[in-house]
Amino acid sequence: MKKQYLLAPGPTPVPPEVLLAMSRSIIHHRSPDFIPIIQQVRSDLKWLFQTSQEVITVAGSGTAGMEASISNFMSPGDKIIAINGGKFGERWLKIAQAFGVLPVEVKVNWGESVDVNIVAGLLAKDPSIRGVYVQASETSTGVAHDVKKLAELTKDRENTILVVDAITALGVTNLPMDAWGIDVLITGSQKALMLPPGLAFIGVSEKAWKLQSMAKCPRFYLDLKRERDNLLKDSNAWTPAVTLWIGLSESLKMMKGEGLEKIFARHSRLAKATREGIKGFGLEVFAKHISSEAVTAVVAPEGFDGEAIYKNLRNQYGITAAGGQDHLKGKVFRLSHMGYSDVFDIITAVSGVEMVLTRMGYKNKPLGSGVAKAQEILIQE
Ligand SMILES: *Cc1c(COP(=O)(O)O)cnc(C)c1O
Repeated sequence: MKKQYLLAPGPTPVPPEVLLAMSRSIIHHRSPDFIPIIQQVRSDLKWLFQTSQEVITVAGSGTAGMEASISNFMSPGDKIIAINGGKFGERWLKIAQAFGVLPVEVKVNWGESVDVNIVAGLLAKDPSIRGVYVQASETSTGVAHDVKKLAELTKDRENTILVVDAITALGVTNLPMDAWGIDVLITGSQKALMLPPGLAFIGVSEKAWKLQSMAKCPRFYLDLKRERDNLLKDSNAWTPAVTLWIGLSESLKMMKGEGLEKIFARHSRLAKATREGIKGFGLEVFAKHISSEAVTAVVAPEGFDGEAIYKNLRNQYGITAAGGQDHLKGKVFRLSHMGYSDVFDIITAVSGVEMVLTRMGYKNKPLGSGVAKAQEILIQE
């Protein structure tokens, strides 16, 4: 037997309470039984997104939310700023191109956070820019971008929206949509929301709804207005992923039970313990400026293959972490600490890394040196 530990940045572990809720018999989405679920989900998502606006839920992975954030708010020929500091930033460019939207790319070295002054300069120069698209947490590099500062640049521009892929940031770190002036805020089910993959969520500001009514990109299934009109009547445009909605109602209850401040503090502590644990074992964190609180990318030490480290974690100890993507393949491996994650997930991760690397011949630091550092952080309340 090998016990399995899921420590990858999505899908993340699903709590037993949620699994149990999803194992009940299927109910019909147009029956009265489903209405209280829609009502609870509508209200709890507003709480989670810190918005008074309707949050739209669609069946699809997180990328469906990213695609909807282009097709609903832009017209072919519109210009957007796409901040590209990793695998997910790159996706903005690809989606924009698919819809004939013109991306002005702000390329950020992998591992770095965007220099907000560059975005400010581009916006000042070109009043026709309709949107700034960014990741709050770039999962491929373990880096966070400064969403609050970016929002300051867009909030007073009538025809420019800030679109934030918060797929590994919402429910991890504070992103108050209304207070900061985020226009489109996106997340997915399989990251911090502690659910299986299959749902995308899109919060839309009043400013963005105005652009939506003028935007001409083709859309049908992912037409957010149609979904909103239905939600306002406690219904869905199409057959929703009923089982996932039921799981969602349960995971949102759990999140509300913990409270936003405690959720953010827990993630912050777990992220710090991971970073300190990794450094305590003589390794380096890949993020240079602002670290993601959801996932830590660790630089593979000189002479050791990051792919081998992550594969050995799984083969030797049943720990599923993640490797590096594209040119980071073999250079980094990634450990998640988001969602249904707590103290001993961090101990498992750091100690697993120590054991695997020691078996591979790493001698810089003795076993337990990283774990001890992590423990020092984790015993602080
Ligand atoms: C996981 C993730 C996505 C969405 O990926 P899907 O595979 O479509 O769910 C998008 N952006 C970021 C930052 C992510 O971590």
